[in-house]
Amino acid sequence: MTKKGLADLAGLSGLVTVPSGERTCPGCAQPLDRCRCAAEQEARARRSAPVRVWLETSGRRGKGVTVVKGLPLDAAALVALAAQLKAACGSGGTAKDGQIEIQGDRRDTVMATLQQLGYAPKRAGG
Ligand SMILES: [Zn+2]
Repeated sequence: MTKKGLADLAGLSGLVTVPSGERTCPGCAQPLDRCRCAAEQEARARRSAPVRVWLETSGRRGKGVTVVKGLPLDAAALVALAAQLKAACGSGGTAKDGQIEIQGDRRDTVMATLQQLGYAPKRAGG
């Protein structure tokens, strides 16, 4: 490539900058980089999710397991939340079939952690 060719290329690349903040969100009319729609939608979904927390002892050893159901999450997000709850409780647990199980009676900690995350869990069962 010639020196002129390189100069042209440099000049061109200087012009090809993508303007930012020009497209606006149809939901909130804010520039897309300032849009909070997805976050607000997620927050609403969390608040309105029918999350239930209960202790299941039948067929379980020891103190049973704390079960969380009704979370509006896909499998990967459920696993991530299970990890968060396990850490908060200092306890083992699993995420499967759309629900989370934490070893032992951890209802108080699980409820508090879910509330911190924006959920409105309800205690169910005994
Ligand atoms: Zn928006």
